[in-house]
Amino acid sequence: MINVTQTFLPPQEEYNKIVKRAWDKIWLTNRGELTLELESKLKKYLNTNSIIITNNGTIPLQIALKLLGKNGEIITTPFSYVATSAAIVWENCTPVFVDIHSEYLTIDETKIEAAITLKTTAILATHVFGNPCNIEAIENIAKKHNLKVIYDAAHSFGVNYNEKSLFNFGDVSTCSFHATKLFHTGEGGAMFCNDEELNEKLFYSHNFGHNGPLDFHGLGINAKISELQAAMGLTVFPHINHIITERKTVVDYYNANLSFKNFNGLKIRANTTWNYSYFPVVFESEQVLLKIQKALNEKKIFPRRYFYPSLNTINYINGEKMSISESIASRILCLPLYVGLTTSELEQIVSIINNNI
Ligand SMILES: *Cc1c(COP(=O)(O)O)cnc(C)c1O
Repeated sequence: MINVTQTFLPPQEEYNKIVKRAWDKIWLTNRGELTLELESKLKKYLNTNSIIITNNGTIPLQIALKLLGKNGEIITTPFSYVATSAAIVWENCTPVFVDIHSEYLTIDETKIEAAITLKTTAILATHVFGNPCNIEAIENIAKKHNLKVIYDAAHSFGVNYNEKSLFNFGDVSTCSFHATKLFHTGEGGAMFCNDEELNEKLFYSHNFGHNGPLDFHGLGINAKISELQAAMGLTVFPHINHIITERKTVVDYYNANLSFKNFNGLKIRANTTWNYSYFPVVFESEQVLLKIQKALNEKKIFPRRYFYPSLNTINYINGEKMSISESIASRILCLPLYVGLTTSELEQIVSIINNNI
């Protein structure tokens, strides 16, 4: 069976060796030495101004929205994983959708200003598949209207834009270290912030608000990662360049061999060093997509409809119509992409698609 992705698992002995340190110390959580070491290694590797590792990639969105959203209207993209919208609703803010670019698949910055009202407090945009949003334009709009910018950068591990980590943009950027993501800790995530004062708030918010054992800065929640998850991260980390290189090989294969006659791939924004995190293809119609999906499924190949449905259509949201996002969502399929996909498997996937298009 070939799925859209397969979790990268390092040799188990390597995990055992690292996790033994938690056993030896009898210390499983509360920012132990493994968590601190992972934070320091990732900060250096990614070259970010800060990092706070969390227990998943959704809670940093919630914390950022709690601190910056202030129960207002949040301008957001309908084309993302459901966590982006769900976090907004969960934090008692109101999602206001703005349609996307048909090629970049990120929020269409030219339509943002029309959606701003007196209740707007922030923009929450996703760097979809690791493809950066129009950061400069969004920053200008935010400045002009005094709005905060939060980036759901769940897919952006290792992506650089203008030679800087994509995590260094926006008031807060978040990442997911879920097992299906490029770098993972099983479950996990992180938040990044360039403002020292805000970063301090994010930090205490992720640990019950603690200011030492007996005092509190303010309200907080538990978003701490465990040492067992940090051990997984430290085990995966030395393989990260290998992971990215292997994924690039798969992406290069698809680009060289898919016919691209009646469908498109993802257009990556200029000045981006991408991470090869996903391989989406957008077909002519949903019928073609379903035909190809069926042909692949018959050979036990399971691509995923990332992202479907368009988030504005979800029952508890019921947003305005978003023509481009809804159209793309109905026609997009992410092809299998992971370390260990063999050439013969790739040949099979490509020939099924090319023969059915
Ligand atoms: C995976 C993902 C998340 C959520 O991350 P978790 O670690 O699963 O909580 C949020 N946004 C996007 C775009 C994602 O793909």
